[in-house]
Amino acid sequence: MNNENKEKYQCPECESKNIRFKFKVNNRNKNDAYSHVTEEIQCAECFMDIPANIFLIDKNTNIEDNKKIWKSFYKPEHLRKAAKCSKCDLYYWEIEKQLAINNIISSDIFYQTFDNKGSAGKMVCKLCDPEAFIKK
Ligand SMILES: [Zn+2]
Ligand SMILES: [Zn+2]
Repeated sequence: MNNENKEKYQCPECESKNIRFKFKVNNRNKNDAYSHVTEEIQCAECFMDIPANIFLIDKNTNIEDNKKIWKSFYKPEHLRKAAKCSKCDLYYWEIEKQLAINNIISSDIFYQTFDNKGSAGKMVCKLCDPEAFIKK
């Protein structure tokens, strides 16, 4: 095995080398920063979903460049669209981090409320309403 060709991961947000998982994404909006992103990685430390192309370190990339690209290019867009709880105002990665501290690892962290007009409601997180997530 040649170690130089081995894929290395490093999070451009927190520099962790541990990942939770990699997943395919399908971005329908062709005009934003994410239009060419096909794969994302969720960091096991900060729990952010980050485009795989800047989570990988190989001979052509380095963490400093990836951090710059993440912070200036992708992150502002990510913050604009990221799921957020309507009660505690935390983003999904802050909620997942809190849950992880309590040894709860789950991707099922939000439910949506519906108002009486039937329109799509607000997101409420597992921290604010843990009862709602208990399977009956
Ligand atoms: Zn991270
Ligand atoms: Zn909440």
